[in-house]
Amino acid sequence: MNFVLASRNKHKIQEILEILPELKNQIKTLNDFPQIPEIDETGKTYEENALLKAKTVCHLLSITTLADDSGLEVKELDGGPGIYSSRFLGENTSYKIKNEAIIKKLQDAPREKRKARFVCAAAAVFPNGKVITARGEIHGYIADKIQGESGFGYDPIFFLPDYGKTMAELSEKEKNRISHRALAFRKLFDNLQSSSYNGK
Ligand code: IMP
Repeated sequence: MNFVLASRNKHKIQEILEILPELKNQIKTLNDFPQIPEIDETGKTYEENALLKAKTVCHLLSITTLADDSGLEVKELDGGPGIYSSRFLGENTSYKIKNEAIIKKLQDAPREKRKARFVCAAAAVFPNGKVITARGEIHGYIADKIQGESGFGYDPIFFLPDYGKTMAELSEKEKNRISHRALAFRKLFDNLQSSSYNGK
């Protein structure tokens, strides 16, 4: 079976291929289809945005398409930046600045208010119109300083109490075992195998 992953984000693509190594020889990404335009994320939920990307690309290419939408939700910020995570303070602003801004906003916040989660919605859309979605979440706290070099985005400020480390201090292997994206894509792939692969 052939798939397209509706993303050009190299970090995401790398993570998804590590989470589902089975896909490696069966998947292309939007980097293979430069003619496909950027898709505006106009949905109000992660699921809506993931479906929007997957449906648009599946419609244009007639190939089963996977997509995800994800974000960081912080209790003290009323669940923000949420679906606006990549647009927070501007799409082209560095994550050093975004992360420092969140740390500053939470400067005096007690532990309870520092609660945060990463959420990922993954979607698969088939050329026959069939749709599957799955969600993954990982819970933690906003750290009081930037720590760690690996991963991307908000990983250096996302503290995991069970590990005593930020997400950016985990190895790629560890992150891809426990992350919101790993949970969502493994669930999605399980559903995909038990439905489409069997022709149901
Ligand atoms: P999108 O799913 O491409 O709309 O972007 C989601 C945004 O959420 C990313 O650009 C990051 O800002 C943030 N994000 C999602 N997943 C992660 C992660 O695993 N680590 C760090 N930041 C993430």
